[in-house]
Amino acid sequence: MKINIIDNSQPEASQADEREKLAALEAFLDLLKLQGKETKALRVARGLAEDTRERLNEGRAVVAYNSVNVAEMAEHPVAPERATAWLAKIWTNLEERLEERETGIQDFARQAGLSIYAWPRKTPGAGGAGNNSTYDIEFLKVPAVDALPPTMAPDDIAYVQDLTLKPAFWLKPLIRTGFALRGWRRVAFLVYGIGGLASVGALLVLLWLALTTQSARILTGDIVTLVLFAAIVGWLGFAFLSPFWRLIDLRIIMAPDLLLSLRERGVQLEAAKEPADDGQHIRVIRLVRYSGRCPKCGETVHLHDGRREFPGRLVGKCDEHPAEHVYSFDRFTKTGSPLR
Ligand SMILES: [Zn+2]
Repeated sequence: MKINIIDNSQPEASQADEREKLAALEAFLDLLKLQGKETKALRVARGLAEDTRERLNEGRAVVAYNSVNVAEMAEHPVAPERATAWLAKIWTNLEERLEERETGIQDFARQAGLSIYAWPRKTPGAGGAGNNSTYDIEFLKVPAVDALPPTMAPDDIAYVQDLTLKPAFWLKPLIRTGFALRGWRRVAFLVYGIGGLASVGALLVLLWLALTTQSARILTGDIVTLVLFAAIVGWLGFAFLSPFWRLIDLRIIMAPDLLLSLRERGVQLEAAKEPADDGQHIRVIRLVRYSGRCPKCGETVHLHDGRREFPGRLVGKCDEHPAEHVYSFDRFTKTGSPLR
């Protein structure tokens, strides 16, 4: 019988590997904590990650689970024969939620100095009874970035782009994966900004002419209507066009509520520079949310408009102590320093 020579480096390597997997699971669970209210789908993801972490901690092999196991993890009471159907629905929802958070978990893993990140996976079964899909956590490689890791003081905050949002339903066809400014979209963007400004301006000039040149002939009631109309046009013009100009000016602004679904808050509209296939850069407009953990109290920090105190800036404010725990926000390094 041939006995293989045991390679001494093997166990150490796999231990290091397991430590990194554990750290990747911690980073994944940390990201879930940032999400606020936990949905059923995120509960399923948490269950998978926690059980995998427990197995790794106890030195057991990482396994894939069936739908009944997953329902138990999520503490969802469901009859075993109906678990598959229940989970299929939840999983579709989870995939959508996760897609919006993939950049966030990669950021988290990168900031923790890891080369892998944890990601829930569904492996479809061959079909038929006893051949159901299985669910587990896979470990994927963190994509490389060209930015150097920033140097941070102990009371500085690290932000992650924890969400890359799908916009409100009426905008979805337009901004499916970010609104890349090239071709007709670039034209559309400029027409919206410049054309919008021109038409609002032209309308106001017309109204002014109507008021001044025919004042002898029109009635007071008509004047009131015209002035009201002018005020509404001016207000609408401001509401729709000011985000456009501020975005061009500042590159990142708080997203107007109009662009968001109701459940989303604390979201930014960002005009990011991204590398294109041809080696050039293109500008992409997208809805993102940056958040971080408050170094002082550990609560979640979300971005807010700096308003009068920090004009033209976005600042991070801790959810629990928003008046005192205030941080700057640097979109490039994804870090901030205390402002109070
Ligand atoms: Zn705080």
